[in-house]
Amino acid sequence: MNKIEHIGIAVKNLQEASDIYESMLGTSCYKIETVDSEGVNTAFFRAGENKIELLEATHADSPIAKFLEKRGEGIHHIAFEVDDILQEMSRLRSEGFVLLNEQPKLGADNKLVCFVHPKATKGVLVELCQEIKNR
Ligand code: ZN
Repeated sequence: MNKIEHIGIAVKNLQEASDIYESMLGTSCYKIETVDSEGVNTAFFRAGENKIELLEATHADSPIAKFLEKRGEGIHHIAFEVDDILQEMSRLRSEGFVLLNEQPKLGADNKLVCFVHPKATKGVLVELCQEIKNR
């Protein structure tokens, strides 16, 4: 895996949270995107080379809605950039990790993504993401 691509933070209200992160980071949100497959609205921020993704649920069955119910607002996942997501997925499977997605799926910010079950990663939901190059 390459660097940490972004840190995902679950929030109840995206607008309110965006205002807070804009004022804290001293920079504007550069992208707002809805990911229907995950039931989330996302807002992305840059802090130097790093990115923060704020996530708000779009409906009550969204994984973010469930996370907020159980754990409240806070860090939801850490995303690692990978060059070849299929290769990383099969490597992790062979190491005994449980993946939450059989196949990579289309995530926010022009990425193919796959989540790793937090059970085997000390409670941290890990996202693999590979940038989609030409389209
Ligand atoms: Zn993410």
